[in-house]
Amino acid sequence: MVLDRPKTPLVLRDVAKPKPGAGQLLLQVKACAVCRTDLHIVDGELPNPKLPLILGHQIVGIVKEVHPSVSGQSGSDFSIGDRVGVPWLGWTDGSCTYCRSNRENLCNQGKFTGYNIDGGYAEFTAANARYCFHLPGSYDDVNVAPLLCAGMIGFRSYRKTGDAKRIGIYGFGNAAHLISQIALHEGRELFVFTRPGDDAGQNEARSLGAKWAGGSDEMPPDKLAAAIIFASVGSLVPAALHALAKGGTVVCGGIHMSDIPSFPYVDLWQERVITSVANLTRRDGEEFLKIAPRVPVKTKVETFPLEEANTALDKFRAGKLSDTAVLKIS
Ligand SMILES: [Zn+2]
Ligand SMILES: [Zn+2]
Repeated sequence: MVLDRPKTPLVLRDVAKPKPGAGQLLLQVKACAVCRTDLHIVDGELPNPKLPLILGHQIVGIVKEVHPSVSGQSGSDFSIGDRVGVPWLGWTDGSCTYCRSNRENLCNQGKFTGYNIDGGYAEFTAANARYCFHLPGSYDDVNVAPLLCAGMIGFRSYRKTGDAKRIGIYGFGNAAHLISQIALHEGRELFVFTRPGDDAGQNEARSLGAKWAGGSDEMPPDKLAAAIIFASVGSLVPAALHALAKGGTVVCGGIHMSDIPSFPYVDLWQERVITSVANLTRRDGEEFLKIAPRVPVKTKVETFPLEEANTALDKFRAGKLSDTAVLKIS
């Protein structure tokens, strides 16, 4: 399924089967989860995607070929037949100031799967072995796919809350569902904010174990030590700041957000912090894949055949998906 240019539907067409280059694996794609970032790319909200582009950065695939340069390369222990996961972070230079200070997520030359590199809305893809993960055996292909972005980048957002006991979550979508399970497992108290009037969403949050759930226009019963915003709505930043206790942090977990309205300085005063999360490091992915099966983090998916990727994206955009959309490639 190919994106020829933003703001047009993906097109089903035959393309040449990728040949693995130096450092790469050829993968037969089994499943690829759909992320909000895919929507932002299709809708022209992220600049300069590779075009034409094959989207998809939550790829589960089987290794079909290993480029000879891969064997013996550290961190690339893959053989033909292995099941691997490919995340958003697709390549880094390993040499810039960010890479050399454990912040490869901010690499000056970083390349991202399904954005600067062709991704997994396809039958085959080539991926750099150093950024692929072995996947826990307790998940099937379709259910493990959402862990590769919603899970991993959500986990990076969660880690930024430090040891906060009371955590607010704004936007109860894919990432929030997965991260809530870890937060509760680690004994945190969750306060979930949905669109005002979304009673079904609030009930679901309570049934998952949230201590409180309400609309994003409401104040929680207790001040929050941290809040994570997964929705791409800038006006939630001052709302979340206003709900924070002294010294609290607001973590913006999305790649794109509408403009943030102005707010009184008193809401930031007392060492409150606003930060954002960009991308992921391989270490985030490894840590998350260790903890997820132990919780165990459960995913809920709605599958679509590859050729119905546009339907999945349209339902996502319209807010009509109840679970994570995953393309199943047969
Ligand atoms: Zn994503
Ligand atoms: Zn770098």
